[in-house]
Amino acid sequence: MKKKSILLHTCCAPCASTSGERLINEGWDITLFYSNSNIYPETEYLKRLDSAVKLADIWKVTLITDSWDHEQWRKYVKGYEKEQEGGNRCSLCFEFNLRRTADKAKELGFTAFTTTLTLGPYKNSKVIFNIASVFPGFIEYNFKKKNGFNRSVELSREYGLYRQNYCGCEFSR
Ligand code: SF4
Repeated sequence: MKKKSILLHTCCAPCASTSGERLINEGWDITLFYSNSNIYPETEYLKRLDSAVKLADIWKVTLITDSWDHEQWRKYVKGYEKEQEGGNRCSLCFEFNLRRTADKAKELGFTAFTTTLTLGPYKNSKVIFNIASVFPGFIEYNFKKKNGFNRSVELSREYGLYRQNYCGCEFSR
């Protein structure tokens, strides 16, 4: 039977490890999409990308990399730089990355996509679902559930994945 395909927006390898595992176990054929113009500086963006490449190699799945468009991202969150983590800047940040993922899904003919963002303990899944609801093909997955975060720690250790100590942008460092 032909597997169903899904584009998985990948914020980082540790979050993709458990999210991807769950999707694969549910019978999805996954393609990782690393689209994270929010990450600063570029060296950190590349370090997280290296780890995503490692994960894709382990699983033998395709990884597609978006360009690092931090200038564009800064314009998108302008005026919200001083917000606390979890506030309006983060909602705009989610929207920025989800829109690019939705566009990529459409371009490549994927009828389903989702995001690893819901794994983050400080990221409100309902807010993410609400923002993503305007994009056709988005499938709600709350990867925090089923012990998701602890499983990502376990898998990151097993695979030797880099685990960062801040969310991503310069304001969260
Ligand atoms: S703290 Fe994280 S989610 Fe919020 S704007 Fe920065 S990178 Fe995006």
